[in-house]
Amino acid sequence: MIYLSPPHMSGKELEYVKKVFESNYIAPVGEFIDKFEYMIEKYVNAKALALINATSAIHLALRVLGVRNSKVAVSTFTFIGSVNPILYENNEPIFIDSDESWQMDLNLLEEALKKEDIKAVIVVHVYGQSAKIKDIKFLCNKYGAFLIEDSAEALGAEYERKKVGTFGDFGIYSFNGNKLLTTSSGGVLVSQDETLIKKARHLSSQAKENYPWYEHKEVGFNYKMSNVLAAIGVGQMEVIEERIKRKREIFEIYKRNLANLGEFQPEIPNSKGNRWLSCIEFKDLNPIEVMNKLKENQIESRLLFKPMHLQPLFKKSKAYLNGKSEKLFKKGLSLPSGSNMSDEDIQRVIDAIKN
Ligand SMILES: *Cc1c(COP(=O)(O)O)cnc(C)c1O
Repeated sequence: MIYLSPPHMSGKELEYVKKVFESNYIAPVGEFIDKFEYMIEKYVNAKALALINATSAIHLALRVLGVRNSKVAVSTFTFIGSVNPILYENNEPIFIDSDESWQMDLNLLEEALKKEDIKAVIVVHVYGQSAKIKDIKFLCNKYGAFLIEDSAEALGAEYERKKVGTFGDFGIYSFNGNKLLTTSSGGVLVSQDETLIKKARHLSSQAKENYPWYEHKEVGFNYKMSNVLAAIGVGQMEVIEERIKRKREIFEIYKRNLANLGEFQPEIPNSKGNRWLSCIEFKDLNPIEVMNKLKENQIESRLLFKPMHLQPLFKKSKAYLNGKSEKLFKKGLSLPSGSNMSDEDIQRVIDAIKN
């Protein structure tokens, strides 16, 4: 079986987990948490906080910024993890469609910012590629909205050589099992503003005050990553450049061989994505048929995201639309993109699709 994007260990992870066991720090504190956060900080050039997953990272971002009972604009072409935290704080999501780059449409975003009293924008760097983040930041500044970058899929992606996730007030990365790197489950919250990360850190460990006894002044959460999982993360961060390089190679091989079938996900000018998943929008083929045929050949593929504005959960929500994300859902497919795929595996996928 060739899977969509399976975990790809460096080989060092087990050794680090063993060290955790030897020290008996099987806890949400310990040296690997510090090390993992430090590695992320050096890599993206921002302050970092390791958490149980990326969904909780978005929740903390909204909480720290005080975005509650408000309107939040968010990419409609995304995974539900971008949107659920908006609801946790009793906010109203306003969905923004994609443009030809598959990323958030700037004109629709500006229209929404003009018409609605939007307190925060959550922009998704979809499938590991950079959104038009500089322009989006400009619009957020112009209309006085906070900016949170959902870079769950886009660790290592860059815009003008700066890592995505570090343009906004907050950025988040996911270390879930199918992402570029994994800690089995995990997430990281980043910000250029150290005081914001300090606040988030406080809330992430039950908002326990620094007293000799248990003292609490506000509502907290139990969102901290464990030392065991951080040890896996350290092993993963050591090989991030190799992983991105391989993902980008896989994409190029698909594109070279299958370009006549449709359009592969673009890369916007001045950016470099991590090509987490290689995705194509077919001209004529029906992606469900292709997916089922691939499955018969022991190859896993996946339909592109069903836009949030089409989900039953959001049938009453406002959306600024142009039809692009709906078209991507109806015509698009994610191909197997594991960084541990061999050239022969890639050829097997290509041959199966051609057949
Ligand atoms: C995976 C993902 C999330 C959620 O990440 P978890 O670590 O699983 O909570 C959020 N947004 C996007 C775009 C994702 O792909």
